[in-house]
Amino acid sequence: MNTIIGMGSNQDYRDKTPIKILNEVKDRMIESGIIINYQSAYYQSPAFPDATKPDFTNCVVEADFSGTPDQLLWEIQKLENQLGRNRNERWGQRTCDLDILGIGNLVLPSIEKFNYWASLDFSLQLNSIPNELIIPHPRIQDRAFVLKPLVSILPNWKHPVLHKTVSEMLEVLPDKAKKSVVEIN
Ligand code: ATP
Ligand code: CA
Ligand code: CA
Repeated sequence: MNTIIGMGSNQDYRDKTPIKILNEVKDRMIESGIIINYQSAYYQSPAFPDATKPDFTNCVVEADFSGTPDQLLWEIQKLENQLGRNRNERWGQRTCDLDILGIGNLVLPSIEKFNYWASLDFSLQLNSIPNELIIPHPRIQDRAFVLKPLVSILPNWKHPVLHKTVSEMLEVLPDKAKKSVVEIN
């Protein structure tokens, strides 16, 4: 099943720049049994919501993983920790953030919970953190820094709740948001 993982970094870790960190994450994914089939280029975009923080470098990969979704979450959180992630401020500066964007047409834990998180008021998003895995990741459809790399590798992946393809979700984002995400390699 298409297992889609989004990766981002806007802070060096020891001597490693964001690109080096994300390259290392991909190497370590393979060691953790996450087989990468496709990977996007790297894209740079202003930090959100605080654009005075360093720009983010993001990419997405499509992978195969034979374990359960919770095992995958555990593996990527282990990699985040290995690459210096410390969990303080939500959406703050970070060396490495790995999100499970989607797993084929799976919806977890339920459509109702997905809808709750996807429609959460922006003011609540900053302070509300799900304590269980939500699949698809509830913010894909809002984020040009996810959809722009994703459209380059999986334009036809269909969101199992919103029933829109990646191309369709990207198309309706504001031009300004799309232009702020720039391919860097
Ligand atoms: P956002 O989720 O809006 O991108 P974030 O990545 O900064 O924000 P984190 O602090 O990295 O948020 O994650 C908070 C928690 O979300 C994680 O501990 C994890 O248990 C949970 N979570 C729920 N669904 C997912 C998912 N699809 N991918 C990754 N983590 C998830
Ligand atoms: Ca994230
Ligand atoms: Ca995350």
